[in-house]
Amino acid sequence: MANQDPVNPAHTLFDLFVQAQRCVDVKQHFAELCRQLTLNPKDFRNFYSKLKERLNYWKAKSLWTKLDKRASHSEYQQRKACIKNKCLVLGAGPCGLRTAIELSFLGAQVVVVEKRESFSRNNVLHLWPFSISDLRGLGAKTFHGKFCTGSLDHISIRQLQLILLKVALLLGVEVHTGVEFLGLNEPSGENGWMAKLKPETHPAATFQFDVLVSAGGGRFVPDGFKHKELRGKLAIGITANFINRKTAAEAQVPEISGVARIYNQKFFQQLLSETGIDLENIVYYKDDTHYFVMTAKKKSLLEKGVIKEDHSDAEQLLAPSNVDYKALHLYAHDAAQFSTGGNLPHLQFAQNHLGQPDVAMFDFTCMYRAENASLIRERRGKKLLTALVGDCLVEPFWPLGTGIARGFLASFDTAWMVRSWGLGVPHLKVLAERESVYQILSQTTPENTSKNYGSYTINPRTRYVTVNLSSIHTNQVRTLYLCNTDSASGIKELLAWCQKNTAGYNKVNVNDFSQSWRSGLALCALVHRFRPHLIDMSSLDESNAVYNNQTAFSILEKELGIPPVMSARDMASNSQIDNLSMVFYLTQIQEAFNVSAK
Ligand code: FAD
Repeated sequence: MANQDPVNPAHTLFDLFVQAQRCVDVKQHFAELCRQLTLNPKDFRNFYSKLKERLNYWKAKSLWTKLDKRASHSEYQQRKACIKNKCLVLGAGPCGLRTAIELSFLGAQVVVVEKRESFSRNNVLHLWPFSISDLRGLGAKTFHGKFCTGSLDHISIRQLQLILLKVALLLGVEVHTGVEFLGLNEPSGENGWMAKLKPETHPAATFQFDVLVSAGGGRFVPDGFKHKELRGKLAIGITANFINRKTAAEAQVPEISGVARIYNQKFFQQLLSETGIDLENIVYYKDDTHYFVMTAKKKSLLEKGVIKEDHSDAEQLLAPSNVDYKALHLYAHDAAQFSTGGNLPHLQFAQNHLGQPDVAMFDFTCMYRAENASLIRERRGKKLLTALVGDCLVEPFWPLGTGIARGFLASFDTAWMVRSWGLGVPHLKVLAERESVYQILSQTTPENTSKNYGSYTINPRTRYVTVNLSSIHTNQVRTLYLCNTDSASGIKELLAWCQKNTAGYNKVNVNDFSQSWRSGLALCALVHRFRPHLIDMSSLDESNAVYNNQTAFSILEKELGIPPVMSARDMASNSQIDNLSMVFYLTQIQEAFNVSAK
């Protein structure tokens, strides 16, 4: 009998996992692979290394090489930079998953919750060169053989999500689908920050975390963040997906990577005269579907009966009750047919997740942008760093294809911030640096970002040609530190901590957050307790309050990055010391000294 290689079931399961085309199948094959290799996916710290050890399969090896190369970036400190951090990522869109991967490389425990059960968005995204290089570096081609072959520079949202989901799982990220984030549960008793989820009893609801990344897309604004609206002239977009039967005839029809009216007047005039369809621009990409996206003029939509009645308000204009969907389908179909010269045979709509023709009309007159990218909440001494990434940070302008590019840049910037958080950088400095980098995000283009894609890391300096990490000062981000100063128990704890650490110092008697601090000796005593070499207590005189306060302020700012909350003169004068400011200031000092003492 011929000597046949026995089939290794783990290899078969790995192949099935790699090739899976639906979220549910990815998760199922992953679970089976873990069972087969007796791996516990919850053992996030060792999962990836054990998987590599146990799955000795040539097809997996090139993927390990790629992931190992990424993991070797010095910024991750051998996956130990954030070893104590626990991160909840809200949303498994491309940006949520991309951030989860980076947080996992940093060594954090990462849990992702996604309200949808499936990845069903057919729309095709144009990628900037750095995003292509980044995704190749994560092994995108292993999971999607056609990924950006030749001059292809686009991918459907669902394929992108599938690639990122697979990478995330291999690195030990926990991903829960069908789980909606409803809000935060504040710390109570021994418990830290947790999430209110639907379903309420889902196991992820007991996960306690110190980092929350919101990647909920679109106009999802978590509590504490504000959005700015940028209003342009009325812009109505239409997307349409048609079934791609992948025949030779279909393969031959050239794509249209952005025909804008200003560049091709003749094409748009002909379209108008022959069909009555009036467009500003149109794009056609081929992927799992034939994907078209176009900006249509209101007048032609009214004339073709797509929009029933004219309204000046865009929301009323595009309200479902004011749209004739049959007419919309015909409009999209005819635009697609005309722009491809009638060469796509049998243009038949693909279906969306509701089983209906995948055609959508949307308004992108207003673009939203979050005022800030991060904030810190503190309750009962438990801190939570919160960050926005992706569309909920900056809504992209689709004709420029900025969504994934700026989304991924913000994912890296966020990971850089979480790294600082994990390494114990003072909180206000963490926020100030993140906001400094955020300042330049909306101006990024493929031209003004570094072309050296191979050296991109989460360090912003490797990506932005000019970036000043301290363009925003710590005192400008104080409002982003939401400390619950009226929590009685928190205040009592803080006072006790101050008393304990200033006990025994001459002429220091802390019993409040105002008078006790006036001479500056109590602050100097605190500094001396933790950094005795920085201050000579015997040289200080109670009557020299301005000098004492200034000395403590300068040391705390220079050594811990904590800016003073008032001037040394105000502290020393007879005017009232603001209790809330003092609580805020001392909380930061407590945190900084506690972290550095660990
Ligand atoms: P999303 O992809 O929206 O993902 C957010 C996820 O969060 C979703 O899966 C959602 O279900 C989940 N979620 C939301 N709320 C909750 C909750 N409470 N609990 C749990 N989960 C939740 N970008 C490009 O780069 N190139 C292009 O060519 C391009 N073309 C575009 C064309 C059009 C017509 C449009 C509309 C957009 C285009 N974009 C393009 C933008 C691109 O689609 C987005 O930038 C990208 O999908 C954003 O990813 P994200 O992860 O931030 O958000």
